[in-house]
Amino acid sequence: MSSIYKTPLSNFIGGEGISYIIMTKYELAIIGGSFAGLSCAGAAAARGLKTVVFDKKKRPGSYTQSTGIFVKEIADQIDLPSHLTNKIHGVRLYSPNLEYVDLISPGYYFLATDTCRVLEWFSKEAENKGTKLVYNENINNIETRESDIYFPDQDISSKYLVAADGARSRTAKELNLGVNKSFLLGAEFEVSGIKGIESDFLHVFLDSKLAPGYIGWIVPGVSHFQIGIAVKYPKKPKVKELIEKVSGIFDTSGMKITGSRGGFIPCGGVVKPYYKDNVCLVGDAGGMVSPLTAGGIHPAIEIGRLLGIAVSDYIQDGGINPGLYIKKHLPSFTIKNQLRNIFDILSPPDFLYNFLIGNSLFKKSAQLIFFHHRGLLTKKAWEEILRKK
Ligand SMILES: Cc1cc2nc3c(=O)[nH]c(=O)nc-3n(C[C@H](O)[C@H](O)[C@H](O)COP(=O)(O)OP(=O)(O)OC[C@H]3O[C@@H](n4cnc5c(N)ncnc54)[C@H](O)[C@@H]3O)c2cc1C
Repeated sequence: MSSIYKTPLSNFIGGEGISYIIMTKYELAIIGGSFAGLSCAGAAAARGLKTVVFDKKKRPGSYTQSTGIFVKEIADQIDLPSHLTNKIHGVRLYSPNLEYVDLISPGYYFLATDTCRVLEWFSKEAENKGTKLVYNENINNIETRESDIYFPDQDISSKYLVAADGARSRTAKELNLGVNKSFLLGAEFEVSGIKGIESDFLHVFLDSKLAPGYIGWIVPGVSHFQIGIAVKYPKKPKVKELIEKVSGIFDTSGMKITGSRGGFIPCGGVVKPYYKDNVCLVGDAGGMVSPLTAGGIHPAIEIGRLLGIAVSDYIQDGGINPGLYIKKHLPSFTIKNQLRNIFDILSPPDFLYNFLIGNSLFKKSAQLIFFHHRGLLTKKAWEEILRKK
């Protein structure tokens, strides 16, 4: 039986002419059934925790706001079905005047994904481990009852709550936890019929007018290309202007827009506080996104899973508070935060990018940012930057 349903969530019992509603009790309730929530749910349910996930979407894969690129570090930790992914080995980095350099790190790759179907796959994995999935359920009301979390509209209680409800988490606000304050705003079109694009590269465009504070991109996806821009909010991404610009180097005459997606990306680092008592934020809700690359799928999945383990240890075995447990695993983003601040304040002008694109130090610095997602200070990263060629 499919678990994708909407109410009734309560069990009704009663004798003649009388009925009682028995509140449904869970050990872990998760708001948000995307990368962070589903990873957390799967890990907890696999350990025997009675776990429920609520999401306001109609179905797990009915919508995504994300481009959906998996960096190798997280692709290595899960066994995504290969037909849902497209392997990409390099980054082609374009200056505003459309000159480019190719960046490659031997053995490294990115996975472009059919993101909606990947989310469906994640939901099945969580469900197979015993998670109850409730879609089409927008959580508006949360109360604390004795030591439990209570959802009055669903008549459900839970010992622990994980909020994985995205960049503009309502739960964080409602429960007086930290909220994201600094954002990039990203938008992209799915397109077909665009020709002349080298498909083993992520095409990344630097342009301080079109993409102030971040970049534009073309991603060779699983069944279409994705072309998009992210900018420092409150500026607005103008994807059609990027399409116009790249029509100078690619054949866009037969191009058709087949879909669109977009949303906010936190870029201010982990929020404070991200946990209290029996509640913890995870993924975008907790600001767990690289401030520089805007990659949030890796931390959402990795920290989500660790949090699921920690909640199960806490409830079943008297382990330490899950929020405290994940602290040592949270990326500090110190250098990336500083680089983001420099980037925001100095906002490099186009002529500087045009000048730097052929410079070998610039190329190596870009290489570090794109290929070393965990640790700009690692030995491997510096071996790569100091290598002569
Ligand atoms: C345009 C764009 C492109 C991106 N591209 C990439 C990329 O290529 N690679 C990468 O690593 N990262 C990328 N990111 C970032 C990445 O998508 C996020 O970091 C990641 O999706 C975070 O996962 P999450 O589970 O924390 O939150 P989300 O994926 O945002 O999911 C939150 C979930 O909570 C649900 N929800 C929200 N409120 C409620 C409520 N009240 N009740 C019930 N359900 C609720 C939503 O429906 C949603 O399913 C991109 C982001 C954007 C906006």
